[in-house]
Amino acid sequence: MGISWRIAKIGRISIQIDGSWVIIFALVTWSLAVSYFPQQYRGWSPFLYWGVGLATSLLFFASVLGHELAHSLVALWQGIEVESITLFIFGGVARITEEVKSPLMEVLLAFAGPLASLTFSALFGFIWVVGRLFMSPPLAALARYLFVINGMVALFNLIPGFPLDGGRILRAGVWWLTGDLRGATRLASSVGQGVAFLLIFVGVWSLFRGDLGNGLWLVFIGWFLHDAARTGYRQLVVRDILREMKVGDLMSRDFQPVESGILLSRLVDEYILRLRDHAYPVVEEEELLGIICLHDVKAVPRERWPTTTVKETMTPRAQLVIVSPRDDCAQAIRALSEHNVRQLPVLEEGRLVGLLRRSDVLNAVRMRQELT
Ligand SMILES: [Zn+2]
Repeated sequence: MGISWRIAKIGRISIQIDGSWVIIFALVTWSLAVSYFPQQYRGWSPFLYWGVGLATSLLFFASVLGHELAHSLVALWQGIEVESITLFIFGGVARITEEVKSPLMEVLLAFAGPLASLTFSALFGFIWVVGRLFMSPPLAALARYLFVINGMVALFNLIPGFPLDGGRILRAGVWWLTGDLRGATRLASSVGQGVAFLLIFVGVWSLFRGDLGNGLWLVFIGWFLHDAARTGYRQLVVRDILREMKVGDLMSRDFQPVESGILLSRLVDEYILRLRDHAYPVVEEEELLGIICLHDVKAVPRERWPTTTVKETMTPRAQLVIVSPRDDCAQAIRALSEHNVRQLPVLEEGRLVGLLRRSDVLNAVRMRQELT
């Protein structure tokens, strides 16, 4: 989908909406205003149908946000970082950067969302039942719809197929029994793919029976779930591989250090153009002072290259992320992507021993993935 907009920030979590969300929001509002409410409740003005439709879908998406916030709060409480919550075509996704630490924590984290949805459902159910007696019918209609839809959101998410919440609970159970997180994820995502095929099958069957609306929805959701189950498992495998590899195994030792005093014109001619490396550690008497890369050089106007030194242009050591040969690659790749750099200097006892390049890590992961 690609495009997403940030609409708010709650604490350190940024709340975003995906481009697809706008289309779904319009579709839901439209179907409520021209089909659902007119069929259930006759005699309202078109203005009222659209007003109630709009308010209902706004509250529906607020409920989905509440579901994701519930997951995020439990994650934060467990000390797990939450980057963002994105509302998109089938609800929401909370981007949580790490895996949970134990099966029990996973169950709490996974169950928080459906519990929030069930709470909203109960709340709107109560408003509907009690409010019906004295509230205006459109408000009662709105409450009734939100009662039903939040209940459906909770039930759908409790389907035991990974990466749905129910699948995470299943995974935690198997993980607890076997102690094997990867095996548990493989099982839970197989169930997820099975559920996905079942949804697609029922969807296609509904299409043949002429139920276009529901059929298409089921096929869509099944497709999405199938995809998510596969990527969820793959991500875990990659994370496992990264955790097993050490920086020392993947760093390259054949890097070319440059002296801090040389001029940019010489760096370009004798190093960049000849060796075709992207980045060079800058040293003075064997001590690392910083890193200079093509990007830094390009930021200086060409006519100043013959008079500017490497030392004036480089990224100084204080601003670099430095790793040790014993660090695992999962940490290193996180540092690479967080700081948006292509390489990290590797230091052992204060001495520069290698460079860890992003491309080397990615190639190693790809190789190992082919072999598992
Ligand atoms: Zn959830």
